[in-house]
Amino acid sequence: IFQKPSSVNEGKVAWKEGEPVPYAALASAFADIQATTKRLEITEILTQFLVRVIRRSPDNLLQVVYLCINRLCPDYEGLELGIGESLLVKAIAQSTGREVARIKKDLEAQGDLGLVALNSKKNQPTMFKVSSLKVPSVFKQLKEIAAVSGNKSQDRKIGMIKKLLASCQGEEPKFLIRSLEGKLRIGLAERSVLVSLARAVVISKLGKFISKLSQEALAKKLEEGTELVKAVYSELPSYDLVIPALLRDGVEGLREACKLTPGVPLKPMLAKPTKAISEVLDRFEGKPFTCEYKYDGERAQVHLLPDGKLAVFSRNSENMSVKYPDLVEQIPRCINSTVKSFVLDAEAAAWKAAETLPDGTVEPAKLLPFQELSRRKRKDVKASDITVKVKLFGFDLLYLNGEPLLSLSLAERRTLLREHFHPVEDEFDYARSEDCNSVEEISVFLDKSVKEGTEGLMVKMLSGPDSTYEPSRRSMNWLKLKKDYLAGTGDSLDLVVIGGYYGKGKRTNVYGAFLLACYDADSETYQTICKIGTGFTEVDLESHYKTLKELEISGKKGYYDVGEAKPDVYFEARVVWEVLTADLSLSPVYTAAKGLIEARGISLRFPRFIRIRDDKTAEESTSPEQIEAMYRSQVVNSSKGKGGGEED
Ligand code: ATP
Repeated sequence: IFQKPSSVNEGKVAWKEGEPVPYAALASAFADIQATTKRLEITEILTQFLVRVIRRSPDNLLQVVYLCINRLCPDYEGLELGIGESLLVKAIAQSTGREVARIKKDLEAQGDLGLVALNSKKNQPTMFKVSSLKVPSVFKQLKEIAAVSGNKSQDRKIGMIKKLLASCQGEEPKFLIRSLEGKLRIGLAERSVLVSLARAVVISKLGKFISKLSQEALAKKLEEGTELVKAVYSELPSYDLVIPALLRDGVEGLREACKLTPGVPLKPMLAKPTKAISEVLDRFEGKPFTCEYKYDGERAQVHLLPDGKLAVFSRNSENMSVKYPDLVEQIPRCINSTVKSFVLDAEAAAWKAAETLPDGTVEPAKLLPFQELSRRKRKDVKASDITVKVKLFGFDLLYLNGEPLLSLSLAERRTLLREHFHPVEDEFDYARSEDCNSVEEISVFLDKSVKEGTEGLMVKMLSGPDSTYEPSRRSMNWLKLKKDYLAGTGDSLDLVVIGGYYGKGKRTNVYGAFLLACYDADSETYQTICKIGTGFTEVDLESHYKTLKELEISGKKGYYDVGEAKPDVYFEARVVWEVLTADLSLSPVYTAAKGLIEARGISLRFPRFIRIRDDKTAEESTSPEQIEAMYRSQVVNSSKGKGGGEED
């Protein structure tokens, strides 16, 4: 419960109303947050700081929030920090007059470039007084640094970082360098920022009336405000839109002001894995559900804006219109004339049109595997270069002609989808579906789907309150039933490549094996899970070498919890791979999910590389909790005591 305003912490750095927020005030709040691990305390510190920002410098609130979550703009605008280590090392060296080799040595010892920058600055004599940094100017310069491209961009970036560092005082260099790296690592999750923002707005709007409320009434208002802000943000994930509306109308006016809007991609609803068909029936307990083909392509959220502009977004809210110029050209042909704006949830899959062979026989059209789709370039795609055709399979309609549809049932959304869109040969179709009722029916439909080249089925609640669309949630109301599960191999994992082992024999010029990790959001660490050397073609290995060589770093990062693993080199945590495994076992070597089952971590046995997941960021890799659930379900499902055992 928020303390009454008389006890609002003034913080260590004060500033006057109407003045820009000093960067030192934000750095001081960051330091306080870093000093605790308790989520409630973190929320309280940030709430108090944001109240001060709203009261004195409301125009800076948006920038402060972006700095707290380490972003510069909404995801779909694509401007990111994440400056490489070697560039930052050079900038710190040049700015503090120290040698690069010394900075690298310090980094090896301290494992945190922010700390190295802080200590390097501390020991540097200051000749003249520098003027203090302000949040708006820091934010503007970070944006400029991220946007630099083209000729001599490295040198220009170093120059700009040096200038910023020169103005840093006190704790500032530590957080500035971490922001530039793209990772604050103070234990501040985005959900805590959202909660603090909601609470700060409620408190600020209450003003002096806060003292008239009982603790219980205040707690209720804070709780309601938080739930509302969370719900609205999941529909409209853009602080650029939500924060000005909050400042203007408070939480009360937010629902009206901020709704799902074409042009702003929402985080997609996700599914839970299921091991067996019978589990599906247990889950739905007689409630109506539907089975749909699970196409093996790439998620595509298609938006038609009222001005006629079309945009296609990835699972990760990246704008993919440049990758799929053919899709953008195709889509208008499947829309009925009644449609003025929409948001469609769909899968784009590689597709081969029917072909008449020289002997006159006709080879029917068919789905192609994901590998075909992944051959397409992601950027600068010219229509004339496209060899792999894509067909769009629509499975949900989230917005139509000015109205969000998220709170309708799936059955209602599906009806609207079918009324307003129509199949076009080789270009668009509805996801094939069947409303099955028994294990036999599901099983027959699953076999059919796999024969036609899909990954299996998605099973979804069809009607009733549990069948609404839940943005960004991995929901029990959507289950995935993949053919791999039934073959006993279980779900795949998406893991981050953090280390490499030099190859031997034929693999001497490339990395022959890799160290993989999952991301633990609570401790903000990467936890190792296996060494992998299987599933790669020679071409794969060469291309991985090319990508990863550029991400090599001088040593292990402080936030890589590697356990006993000893790779030859470490990489920046950027690349995500999908991997299959025979089973999971407890491990004396690796650290994934340690403490969740027991003190030891979990590792993968016989891991096999499947594909690169460039639609996922490192932090969206499989979580320790998901790995724990996989391990436990394997123990439950293991009929002959296989799996869930100790590592060999
Ligand atoms: P995660 O479970 O973390 O999202 P993932 O991206 O690998 O992992 P999958 O486990 O493969 O996702 O299952 C969900 C994905 O399946 C969706 O994100 C979507 O891209 C795809 N998909 C294909 N057909 C459908 C469908 N009919 N309904 C919903 N999703 C579908």
